[in-house]
Amino acid sequence: MDGSDKQMQDTTQTQGPLVIPGEIIGTREEYEPGDGTYVHRSDIHSMNAGYVNLDENIRRLSVEPVTNTPPTINKGDIVVGTVTNVRDTMALVQIDAIKGQGERGFVNPGIAAIHVSNIKEAYVKDISKEFAVTDVVKAKVINMENLRLTTSGNSLGVMAANCSNCGVALVKENKGLKCPECGNKENRKLSSDFGTGII
Ligand code: ZN
Repeated sequence: MDGSDKQMQDTTQTQGPLVIPGEIIGTREEYEPGDGTYVHRSDIHSMNAGYVNLDENIRRLSVEPVTNTPPTINKGDIVVGTVTNVRDTMALVQIDAIKGQGERGFVNPGIAAIHVSNIKEAYVKDISKEFAVTDVVKAKVINMENLRLTTSGNSLGVMAANCSNCGVALVKENKGLKCPECGNKENRKLSSDFGTGII
């Protein structure tokens, strides 16, 4: 909050800047979290794209969503993204689209993560047998605070993947994937929609 805040009709309310989802708008030391916010560590973040409101009487910050802005990602949404990094305990995903939101752009929430325990119902020992960098995945949002996704379930998982040897698009063969160019065989946590391009 800075000195340019304009006063609203209710004199105890000050309208602040327009923020995107996830943006830090204050700290718990200074303010109470109100509607449209969430707390992560000691910071208060915006849950929506909207205007920050400060109720000065009770030192409470809230975010008033703006209408006619691009859709934001919500818990339960099905999203499609690209795997950017595979670590020991999680795969990182850049979200590219939200199912049901067509070609409209959306407020990008940043990099999401699929924890090793959320890849599939069965225990995963080696995450590199489930995902690889550049894979296109379909996943469900299960936690907004730290943007966690799950690919557990038949329709969720890898939608498209390239051969780690030669880069050619892999095709489904039995329960795994095979490179039509070099014959390399690879494993992934596959979506039942693999290769269809249908979200
Ligand atoms: Zn190949």
